[in-house]
Amino acid sequence: MNTPTQSKIIGLERYRVAANSAGKEFDITHLALQLQQTLELPPLLQTFCEHTAQIVPCDSVQYKHKDKELEYQTGSVKKHTCHYQLELEDSHLGEIQCTRETPFSIRETELIEKLLSLLIYPLRNALLYQQAVAEAHRDPLTGISNRAAFEEALSRETSSFKRHLTGFSLLLIDIDFFKRINDTYGHIVGDSVLRNVAQSIRCTIRRSDEVFRYGGEEFVVLLGNTDTKGAQFIAERIRKQVKSLEFKINQDIRISASIGVASTRSLSDVHNTLDKADKALYQAKESGRDRVIVSK
Ligand code: GH3
Ligand code: MG
Ligand code: MG
Repeated sequence: MNTPTQSKIIGLERYRVAANSAGKEFDITHLALQLQQTLELPPLLQTFCEHTAQIVPCDSVQYKHKDKELEYQTGSVKKHTCHYQLELEDSHLGEIQCTRETPFSIRETELIEKLLSLLIYPLRNALLYQQAVAEAHRDPLTGISNRAAFEEALSRETSSFKRHLTGFSLLLIDIDFFKRINDTYGHIVGDSVLRNVAQSIRCTIRRSDEVFRYGGEEFVVLLGNTDTKGAQFIAERIRKQVKSLEFKINQDIRISASIGVASTRSLSDVHNTLDKADKALYQAKESGRDRVIVSK
């Protein structure tokens, strides 16, 4: 092999046994079976990269999918590379790069290609599965996570609290008199207001925190590792941000939001946090709206 970099397009191939540069034979059926045992991308890629690095052998094996912002790598990158675009039935499945200090022989690149053809279908299935899971957790109107995603995130935070006692807080946000927006300007304008509110809440919180559409005009923000004081501060910021939004339809539409805040303090109330936030929200509505109330 004269050039350090090679690039090819890989499809599917049927085989059972392959040989490396030393002429050693490998039964790669075992790898094929292992790759078919999971629909989760991280264990799938880990299995593939680790086995490939051993069988060929390579210093690093890296998987990347730029559009989906996926990356997995074993070992450290060296000078000589074999690079493959993975494609199946016109759909792009990402790319794999194997590297090492010394050049790859033709026999070795053939072996990598055989291993890659084992990966193609399990990888396609895992990518489809990941996409289906993501769509099941997304609210189609606003593009943010939905209530099902919130239930799962809350259950993760609850388990984490039980294990490490890292507290979390919840903000339950409800747009004030939203029905009037629909009644006055129609549902299309109402939908647009909901999209804008969702995006503005998302821009107001840290990247590590998440906003979910809880129901019609209600949103919930889950603040990991945040106490009551911190949560109240963020809630006030969101309230002001929502109030500052301008919607220009014939005339300026202005909205406000009421927010209930609750934090976990002890193991006994970890399951009540949402209920406490809901009660605080109710108080915010009762006491005049456009305000933040913190659960005692
Ligand atoms: P409050 O200040 O007490 O919260 O009053 P409100 O009008 O916001 O509350 P109410 O529960 O009476 O009305 C909520 C409205 O939200 C009614 C419903 O039609 C509207 N809504 C729920 N989901 C959607 C949606 O997806 N799009 C639109 N445009 N409106 C929605
Ligand atoms: Mg409501
Ligand atoms: Mg409302």
